[in-house]
Amino acid sequence: MSQLFVRTLREDPADAEVPSHRWLVRAGYIRRVAPGIYSWLPLGLAVLHNVERIVREEMDAIGAQEVRFPALLPREPYEATNRWTEYGDNLFRLHDRRDGDYLLGPTHEEMFTLLVKDLYSSYKDLPLSLYQIQTKYRDEARPRAGLLRGREFVMKDSYSFDVDDEGLQRSYDRHREAYIRIFDRLGFDYVIVQATSGAMGGSASEEFLAVAENGEDTFVRSPGGYAANVEAVSFAPGEPVPFDDAPAAHVEDTPDTATIESLVAFANQLFPNAAYTAADTLKNVVVMLVAPDGTRTPLVIGVPGDREVDEKRLAAMMEPATVEAFTDEDFAGYPQLVRGYIGPEALGGNEDGSGVSYLVDPRVVEGTRWITGANTPGKHVFDLVCGRDFTPDGHIDVAEIREGDPAPDGSGPLTLARGIEMGHIFQLGRKYADALGLKVLDSNGKQVTVTMGSYGVGVSRAVATIAETTCDDKGLCWPRGLAPYAVQILATGKGDEILAKATEIAEALTRRGIRVLLDDRKASPGVKFADAELLGMPASVVVGRGLAQGVVELRDRRTGDRREVPVETAVDEIAAAVSG
Ligand code: ATP
Ligand code: MG
Repeated sequence: MSQLFVRTLREDPADAEVPSHRWLVRAGYIRRVAPGIYSWLPLGLAVLHNVERIVREEMDAIGAQEVRFPALLPREPYEATNRWTEYGDNLFRLHDRRDGDYLLGPTHEEMFTLLVKDLYSSYKDLPLSLYQIQTKYRDEARPRAGLLRGREFVMKDSYSFDVDDEGLQRSYDRHREAYIRIFDRLGFDYVIVQATSGAMGGSASEEFLAVAENGEDTFVRSPGGYAANVEAVSFAPGEPVPFDDAPAAHVEDTPDTATIESLVAFANQLFPNAAYTAADTLKNVVVMLVAPDGTRTPLVIGVPGDREVDEKRLAAMMEPATVEAFTDEDFAGYPQLVRGYIGPEALGGNEDGSGVSYLVDPRVVEGTRWITGANTPGKHVFDLVCGRDFTPDGHIDVAEIREGDPAPDGSGPLTLARGIEMGHIFQLGRKYADALGLKVLDSNGKQVTVTMGSYGVGVSRAVATIAETTCDDKGLCWPRGLAPYAVQILATGKGDEILAKATEIAEALTRRGIRVLLDDRKASPGVKFADAELLGMPASVVVGRGLAQGVVELRDRRTGDRREVPVETAVDEIAAAVSG
C-alpha cells in the first residue's frame, strides 16, 4: 500500500449519482477526465482485466477468434449502411488534415463485414465468429453513473457469419450459451429478456440485464416465463366490439377541465349515471418526430386517459428518428391542433402528406367509445366511437406498462423491475452484408449473401455493475476472482515485529500464487481498517495486537465474520479461505 498508486478519498465526488460510481472514485479505482470519460488506476485496471479474461475465455471456448480494429474509422462504410446519418449526434465525427471524414467507432458491424468480404469467398470458409475487446465511443446525451454510461467505454463485440438461417441460429445459440457462462461467472443476478434491435437493424434480439434498482432499463416478467424489456413489449390490438347501441356523438361545454381528473369529475356531474373513469377518456398527445436528416413530422398518439405515453418506449419505437416536445412555434404551424383539446376528428394523415398522423393505443379498437377533445377550446366530445366517428391511421403500443397488466402472450400478470443492460445479442440477418456486398459461393457455385449476428458485452460497464450490486455502506466488496487482490494484510500497531510478521505472511502467500496487498503504511489502525473496507478485497488479515498471544485475525469482507487463527498455521488457513 505504501507503494501502490492510490489515494482513497473521504468525500463523495460531487457528480456521483449511484453507489458504484461513488465507491470506485473514493477507493481510487478510476478518475474522471471529462463527462463520461474515465482513467483506470491500477486497482480499477486489475478488475477490468479480470472481467476481460472471463469474457475472452468464454469467447475462445465457442471458437470465436480475437481480432482488434482501430477506433478511428473512415466514413465510407458507415455511409454505405446509412449509419453515418442514423447515428446522429451520438457519433463522434472528425476531420483529418486532408479534410477526410472520420468517426470514432460506436460499434463495428461495417468493419467486420468488410474484413470478411476482403478475405473470404466460399461457403467452405463459414461459419466464422470473430470478436474484439475494444474501446467504443458514443456521444451519449446523458453520460451518467460513472462507468455505467460512458462516452468512452470498453465493449466486447463479436460477429458471426453464416451461409443460411439455420447457421445463424446455431451461431446465435452458441453466443447465448457463452453469455450465460460469462454472466454466471461475473456473479450478478441477471435476466434474459426480449429486446428491440433499434438502430442496429435485424430481427430477433435479446438482452442480458443485471437486476439492479439503479438500472436505466425497465423489464417485465410473467409467472409463465415471459420476459421482455418494456421497450420490446407489444400488445396486439383487441377484437372490435359492437357499438350498435351507442348514442350519436355529442359535444359538451367542459370549462376548467385541463386535467383528466377534472374532466372525469365534470363528466360525472353532467351525466350522473355514467360512472366515468379516466379510462373512458382518450388523451391525444402530440410530439414532433425528427428524422436523422432533420425532417420534422408531427405525430399525435391517442391513449386511454388513465395511462401516460412512456417516453422510453416511444423513443425506442421511433428510432432512428428522435422524439421532441411540441413547441409553441410548432402549434402555430398546425392550427388544427388545439392545445389541450386535440380530438381525433381533426387528425389523420392524408395521401398527399398533409394532415397530422394519428396512431392509437391497442386498447382503442373499433367500437370503443370515448370522451375526448372536440378541437375547440373548452369543449369535449362524448360517445365518439372508433370506427364510426373516426378512423386512426394505425396502432402504436407506447403507453406505460403497469404492474399487473397481462403479458402479451397470455402467460399471466406482469411484474416490473429495473436492470442494467450488460449484453445484447442480435440476429442481424443480411442488412450489413447486403449493404456492403458480402457474398460467398454456395455449394452449387451460386453467389449468396452472408447472414450475420452481432453480440455485445459491456466490459467496463460490468466493472461498475459488479461494484453496484455487491457494495455496501462501507465501500466496495468484490467477489473472489474479480477482486484486484485476493487478500489485504494489515500491519496494525507499532513495533518492527508486527510489520516483519505481516510481510512474512504476505510473501508466503505470494509464493503460493495468491495476490496479496500488504498495508505497510505508517497509518493508524483505524485508517487501515476503513481503507480495507473501502477497497473491498474479499478477505483481510489483521496482524497486530494479537501477535503477542500468537494469533492473527482473518476477516471476511462480505459477511463481516472475524476469526482468530494461530500465527503458525496462518498461511495455510488464509490460503484455504481465499481460494476455497
Ligand atoms: P444502452 O441501451 O444502454 O444505451 P445499447 O443498446 O445502445 O445500450 P449496444 O449497442 O447493444 O448498447 O451495445 C452492447 C453493450 O455495450 C450494451 O449491452 C452495454 O452493456 C454496453 N454499452 C452500450 N453503451 C454503453 C455506454 N455508453 N457505456 C458503457 N457501456 C455501454
Ligand atoms: Mg443494446
